[in-house]
Amino acid sequence: MNQFELTGKVAIVTGCSGGLGQGMVLALVGAGCSVVGVSTSRPHDTIEKVQQAGGKFLSLQADLTYTKEIPDIIEQTVSTFGKVDILVNNAGIIRRNPAIDFTEQDWDDVMDINLRTAFFLSQAVARQFIAQGSGGKIINIASMLSFQGGINVPSYTASKSGIAGLTRAMANEWASHGINVNAIAPGYMATNNTKALQADSDRNQAILDRIPAGRWGTPEDLAGPCVFLASKASDYINGYTIAVDGGWLAR
Ligand code: NAD
Repeated sequence: MNQFELTGKVAIVTGCSGGLGQGMVLALVGAGCSVVGVSTSRPHDTIEKVQQAGGKFLSLQADLTYTKEIPDIIEQTVSTFGKVDILVNNAGIIRRNPAIDFTEQDWDDVMDINLRTAFFLSQAVARQFIAQGSGGKIINIASMLSFQGGINVPSYTASKSGIAGLTRAMANEWASHGINVNAIAPGYMATNNTKALQADSDRNQAILDRIPAGRWGTPEDLAGPCVFLASKASDYINGYTIAVDGGWLAR
């Protein structure tokens, strides 16, 4: 099944210090990629795990609240590995507050990183893909709240609904350049992002009761879908958001 082979490919993964981003870094390294991991602080645990796997990894520190960080990310990737083939827009945050009390700060912080920077980084990477003339793969990390409204997370829902729309919009414009833009919508995954939910025993039980697979997802659950969307195996998939949710949306 060498359609899934990524040897010699170069991927940028944002938000790689732990959780789903780390899981996807390790999946891409396992499939043969060299990976540039972007995070706010040095991702020691990810670096150690990539070393154990014998992978090639460049760690870049950047605050993706701001788009001014983008040119340096492209420059460092190309100067280190010669090109870029894959972008995973994974970095993201959530703020929980009822819509009636929600602040502009909690709106802007979430929208800036989850949607604004994800778009402008995709634009910069797509320009690089077009200059290279070799196509490329962009994988956005969406959410169940790309499909549903959620409770107490209005800016997160707006950003993740927006990313699903942007996935289609970018896919339409860039498919003719051999660029595939798709998204993965993780279900309820046990990471920092959902610590508050896991700690609330009533919410935790209600969530588990609704998941047909009967468990929280893990970073490893994204490995296969991520490699698939990064590889030749998905060359005719454009603008689609794949749910990886243990059946949550099927209920
Ligand atoms: P996490 O909090 O463990 O990881 C978030 C990552 O984003 C971290 O590596 C963090 O360092 C990085 N990040 C945050 N702010 C940043 C900034 N300003 N600049 C650069 N990097 C920054 O949570 P996670 O669950 O692994 O989340 C990863 C992605 O998956 C997010 O986009 C999240 O919205 C999405 N997601 C998570 C779940 C879930 O259940 N955990 C479900 C659906 C979608």
